[in-house]
Amino acid sequence: MSDRWQPALALKKLRAAPAMLACDALLDQNIFSGVGNIIKNEVLFRVRIHPLSEVGALPPAKLRALVKQAREYSFEFKAWKQACELKKHWLVHTKKMCPKCKNPLTKGHLGRTRRRSFYCERCQKVYKNLPQLLDCC
Ligand SMILES: [Zn+2]
Repeated sequence: MSDRWQPALALKKLRAAPAMLACDALLDQNIFSGVGNIIKNEVLFRVRIHPLSEVGALPPAKLRALVKQAREYSFEFKAWKQACELKKHWLVHTKKMCPKCKNPLTKGHLGRTRRRSFYCERCQKVYKNLPQLLDCC
């Protein structure tokens, strides 16, 4: 699954699509081959990125962490699936409470794909590019 894609190439493709939402980016099979909806939700929580963040607004270290975790989680996911213990590792997917701050998680059908997202409004930060300020005279 995940050994087919190259982290460096994924980074390059992400940088080329700054307006793309984080939740759409992870499901884009041209960028993250083999990443599905569960991995998307879990990885965004791990790296504390809100699903509606814009890829181009992520600080470089966050963007690298996103790619690194997507790859790592894909390998772990495969191993857990084979051991039939996938669900016990879920932190936010289909969950109701944030394991970190104990606040209720938010559920929504977000992004272009409208796939289910589970996330914490408090722990996961929204990264957005500020709109261009209008010139005023
Ligand atoms: Zn939280």
